[in-house]
This record gives sequence, structure tokens and C-alpha cells, in this order.
Amino acid sequence: MSILENYVLDNFDKPIRECTDQEMYKVLLDLVRDKSRELPTNDDKKKKLYYFSAEFLIGKLLSNNLLNLGIYDEVNNELIANGKNIMDIEQAELEPSLGNGGLGRLAACFVDSITTLGINGDGVGLNYHFGLFKQVFKDNQQTQLPDPWITEESWLIKNEKSYEVPFNNFTLKSTLYDIDVLGYNSDTRNRLRLFDLDSVTSDIIEEGTIHFDKTNIEENLTLFLYPDDSDREGELLRIFQQYFMVSNGAQLILDEAVARGSNLHDLAEYAVIQINDTHPAFVIPEMIRLLTQRGIDFDEAIQITQSLTAFTNHTILAEALEKWPIDELEQVMPEIANIIRELDNRKKDEFPNNHAVSIIDEHDRVHMAHMAIHYGYSINGVAALHTEILKNSELKAFFDIYPNKFINKTNGITFRRWIMDANKELADFIDDLISDEWRTSANLEPLLDFKDDENVLTKLRAIKFNNKQRLSHRLETMQNVTINEHSIIDVQIKRIHEYKRQQMLLLYIIHKYNDIKNGNIPKTPITIIFGGKAAAAYTIARDIIHAILTVSEIIANDDEVNEHFQVVMVENYNVTHAQYLIPATDISEQISLASKEASGTGNMKFMLNGALTLCTLDGANVEIADLVGEENIYIFGKRSEEIVDLYATNGYNARSYYERETIKPLVDFLMSPKMLELGNEDRLSRLQYDMINKDYFMALIDLEEFIEIKEKVYEDYEDHDTWTRKALINIAKAGFFSSDRTINEYNRDIWHLEQDIKNVN
Ligand SMILES: *Cc1c(COP(=O)(O)O)cnc(C)c1O
Repeated sequence: MSILENYVLDNFDKPIRECTDQEMYKVLLDLVRDKSRELPTNDDKKKKLYYFSAEFLIGKLLSNNLLNLGIYDEVNNELIANGKNIMDIEQAELEPSLGNGGLGRLAACFVDSITTLGINGDGVGLNYHFGLFKQVFKDNQQTQLPDPWITEESWLIKNEKSYEVPFNNFTLKSTLYDIDVLGYNSDTRNRLRLFDLDSVTSDIIEEGTIHFDKTNIEENLTLFLYPDDSDREGELLRIFQQYFMVSNGAQLILDEAVARGSNLHDLAEYAVIQINDTHPAFVIPEMIRLLTQRGIDFDEAIQITQSLTAFTNHTILAEALEKWPIDELEQVMPEIANIIRELDNRKKDEFPNNHAVSIIDEHDRVHMAHMAIHYGYSINGVAALHTEILKNSELKAFFDIYPNKFINKTNGITFRRWIMDANKELADFIDDLISDEWRTSANLEPLLDFKDDENVLTKLRAIKFNNKQRLSHRLETMQNVTINEHSIIDVQIKRIHEYKRQQMLLLYIIHKYNDIKNGNIPKTPITIIFGGKAAAAYTIARDIIHAILTVSEIIANDDEVNEHFQVVMVENYNVTHAQYLIPATDISEQISLASKEASGTGNMKFMLNGALTLCTLDGANVEIADLVGEENIYIFGKRSEEIVDLYATNGYNARSYYERETIKPLVDFLMSPKMLELGNEDRLSRLQYDMINKDYFMALIDLEEFIEIKEKVYEDYEDHDTWTRKALINIAKAGFFSSDRTINEYNRDIWHLEQDIKNVN
């Protein structure tokens, strides 16, 4: 009996061939859910990890789950035999809007690896109905709409559990939804535990916007991820969200630990909490509150909580290290505010005159990271350089007191989604070359044996070409642009932020445009692709998007140039887009201001898919460079120590760079008649003014070097064999960045949980 036939007949009373893609999607969802349910959770294991995160950017789950269940090929073959295409069927699935960027994607990769390695661990978060927002381009500008994804056909499973969360003047009762998390060939499953409120409603959202009454907590609490917090009401809403998340999560932990036999005094033998960035850090005072409520005295409650809580820092950007005014906490959750005051007093007594380590600062703001470091047992950075910067500069005051708490855990990505699912042709070809053992071990180094094999290099190029075609197809259907599949594909996809320096690539594009107008035609056409959302309230970031879209239109309209050079910005960049873009990419742009990108994970996905990295020495780029060797990566720009020094001495002057004759015409172009004809003068002049007079993230400091190296990269591309050999070496060295390796390390050094599978290289 075939795997699908019964399901189809039960549901629709007709053969597969006659079902629509939407109907087939429903069938496959039911099939996967049934198969998942057959897998036991890891409840037989005594100790459990709770990975608390404001975001889980999980992406579509259908084909990933089929793959993890080991039935992808069987299902796919039956679909093909009946004239169906799984890629078309997948279009019916909406991508869950539960995350925003790298932080959320990391959490998603981690729960996959946790399950694959047979660790007992759930993700804990919120069930946002409309995500961050859906990005729509209009008049070359970003607009924001709600991004709905919860339908009958979502992966959410309603759980009977419900908890009461006590706010100042009222109590809210939660609803819990679970999403099953499957591991690769794993015989157990874990879950995402997503808390929600039945009373939340889209009725309060103003039509065509993401605006709503921020004071109506009962109806708005889980509408959006990171609602606008530029006013006090917005800040309060974020605090409501965070407390709702952690209170539910902490109650779930106590419930489950007691069910497994804990007497609460021994809670740390039953549970460990990983706090992913600062958003869930209120779990510390909340756990203390709940323990005292259950009869444990305050001192012991602190000690228990400390022994089961670990913290991951994701950034050194001050804006992202959350600080909440204590009076706002008072207003939302007075008991928690009191506990935080007591926690702070104890540390002020312990470290008098050491203001740098206060939880509550002289402006009465609560530093979430400081609370998590004092009252957790571990703090980790997310790449070697990042952790060093934390220890030596950003969090030095803490490192001096707690040297043993600091540890590095370089990020990783799950190979299931980022090569096996996203680039099946490459994955199958690797099987042919070195057997499929790499699928579990992540050991791709045996590929090095083929680095001089012409046939292998030719085949790698053919696969890249097919992926370019697939991307081209998708862009045509999604936003009606065609790209040249014979062109060099050069990609920068990530949140739009000044420190990621999309403006630098934009200035290069202006340079290249002028250069082509002057008759320097590239040997191979070039397609530069951007993707990324700007926070709705981040004006300069939205100006950058506007400038990119405007320049892209100028180039598209210019018949002297458009055959040779194209600039595309994908709309509403998300995981699904990434799965099409990354396998098609030749050049991975990783051009942050050195010291500002904690790790990056996009860089790892590109490397794994045979793109060459063009980067500053920042975050995990440093480790990529160490692995592949200098000759297989393109590095430019100031080093992180130089940048840290420049900030310390106020030594950077944007205008002096602007005045250089190579740079001035590029920056001036932003306000040229061509730009103003299509663009918005306010946005363009603000962006230009910022570049000349502020440029806090130093987009101009490395620009000349960047232009120079970009020309070299394109030139090197022309030597196809040498280029592809470098790509192969990058793939072969990517094994270190498997999130299975990362999770093994977390477990070995921080969590200490039972683990079924350890075989990672
Ligand atoms: C991997 C990923 C990111 C993170 O990319 P970085 O380049 O590390 O910032 C963001 N968004 C999506 C959709 C991703 O898949």
C-alpha cells in the first residue's frame, strides 16, 4: 500500500492525481502530524532543557519534517508518479511569523539539533499572530502590513495546559499551543511551547497598517513580535509580553519537573533554562517568585534559580541590551519589580562602588543582561571574537568578577534545512562522492580529495546554475522580475541596519553603474541581490531601502547598463526566500563594521552552499577564514581592534572620507537629478546627510578597499576552475558550523543533559 493513497481517499474520496495542491498540502500535513505523534517525547529523561526565546524563525516545516522523518523520497516519488510537484504543494504552506532575524533562526536551528541529538529540550516562546510585519514595497519604499499565518492548516496543536499570569490590576489566563519539533532520523520528538491569549484579536489593528491600541493588553498581547516601543505605551507592552512569556514558561517548568519527581529543592537536577538574549531574562525573578510562593525561602529560591539558569549574549550594540525603567516594571508587575530591587541591593552590597555591574543604574533602569549574568551560572558569546570582545571590553567589569562564567559557543546552522532541504541536488551529489555519512556527522572534509577533479568542478557549476534558474523562476512568480541565470549572483541578505552596511554595497553599485556607463563592461553580467526588513521605526534603515530600490530602478531603466548589471531587492525576505537565494549565490556579502556583528549565521549557510565570502574580519567570519585559509576567502577593511580604538578616541571623521575624490561622487549621486526624479528627496537627503556628517557605523572608512576588492572578486570569477575549487574547499570546511556541533558543546559545557547521539566530528 502506498504511503499517501489512504490519506487522500479518506480526506477527499478521489485519487491523488485529481487533488489540488492545497488539498495535497492538507493530506501531507495530516500524514506528518500522525507520524510525529507516534514518536514519544523525551519525558523519560530526568533533566530537561527549556530554551527561552522571543523568536523562533522556523520557516516552512513540511518538507523539512518529511526529511527528518526519513520519508521525503518515498512521498516525493509517489507525488511525481501522480503528476504532482512537492515544490508547488509547499506553496500552500504559510511561513510561521514567529521570528525576525538571525537570533530567531538560531533558535530554530537549535531545536532541530537538540532533537536530532536525542536531548530532552523544548523551545518556549509566544504565539505571535502577525509576526514582525509583512514587508511590501510601494513607490520604492518599505511599507508594513500584518503577516498572518495561523489557519486551519498551520502546525499548531492546542494543548490543554493553561496558566494564570498575575499583572498589577488583572490576571490573564494563557492558552498553550505546541508545534512538534522533529530531529533527523530521531525516534523521539520535542516541542515548541508557544503561549497565547484567547482574547487577542485583529479587530483592533487599523486597516492597512500595523498600528493598534497599545494599551488594550487583553486584545493585543500576542498580535506582533517587537511592537513599536518608541513611546511609553509601547515599552509597557513589550514588558507585558516578556513577563507573560516567562511566567507561563516558568510555571510549565515547575509543573513538568514536579511531574517527573522533583521536590523543587532539587529543581536544577530536573531543569535547565537557556535565556536566548535578554528578552526572557525576567524568568529569573519570576522563578524566584514562584518558588517562594510554593514555600521555599527567598535565599534558597535565589540559589535554586541561579543553579538552573544560563544566558546567551547576542550583541554588543547598546540599543539591543535592554534596559527597562523600574517604574514601568512597577506598573506592570510590582512583585517582580520588588524582587529585582532586592536582587540589585544584594549585588550593590557585594560590589560597592562598582557601578558598571549594577542591575538598576543611576537612571533607575533595569539592565536585563546584568541581571542574567549575576543570577545565572553561565554566560556565553556566539563566536570566538565576540566572546573575546565581551570579556575584554563590553562586559569586562563582569569578567573581572566572574571569569569562570564566561564561555564561547560559536553559532551553527542545521544542515537538514540549509543543504539537505534547500539544495537537494548538491546534497545528493555529495552522497555520490563521499557517501551519505556526512548527513549525520557533518564531516565534509573528504570532499577535499576532489578539489582537482575537473568533472566534479564542472558538476558543481552545473548545480549552481540549476539553483540560479530555480531562483530566477521564483523571483518571476513572486515579484515579476527576471534575473540572468548566467550572471554572477552576489547577495547581501540580512536585517537592514547601519552596522551591516548595506549602504556600502549601495555606494559600490553606484560606482559600478558609473563605470559601466564609462564603457567598462563586465565580462560576465552581475546581479546584486539584497533582502531584509528595516524595523518600522528605524528611519535611516528605511531610507537605505529606499535608496537601494531607487538605484535599482535607474539601472533597470538604463539600456546601456541593464544587460550587464542588475540590482534586485527581494520583498519580504524570510526563511523561504533564503532557501532559494543561498544555493544560487556565488558571492556572500558579510561586510559589517568589524566588532559589531556578533557571529552571523547567514555566512555559514552560504559557505555550506559553495559561495565565496567577501567580508570584514568580524563575528564568525574570523573562524571561516581560519578554516578555509586566506586564499579561499576575500577579507578587507579595518580590524575590530582598530575600530574599538577609533570609538574610544572619537577618531573617525566621516566628512574627511567623503571629501576623497573616489568617494564624493558616489555619495553625491544619492541627491543627483536621476535619483530625485524617481526618489523621495527627504529620505535621500537624510541618508546622504547621515553618511557625510555622522556615519556612526563607518560605512565610508572601508569603502575604497571594498571597491578595490570587489573588482578583484569579479575578475577571479572568470577563472572558473579556480573559483569552483575555492567553493569546494568552502563546502568541505563547513562541517564545523553544523548546529549539532554547537549543541553538543552547549550540552557538554553548560546543560549536562542525557544525550542519545553524540557522533559529530
Ligand atoms: C540566517 C538568517 C538570518 C541571519 O542572517 P545573518 O546574515 O547572520 O544576519 C536572518 N534571516 C533569515 C531568514 C535567515 O535565514
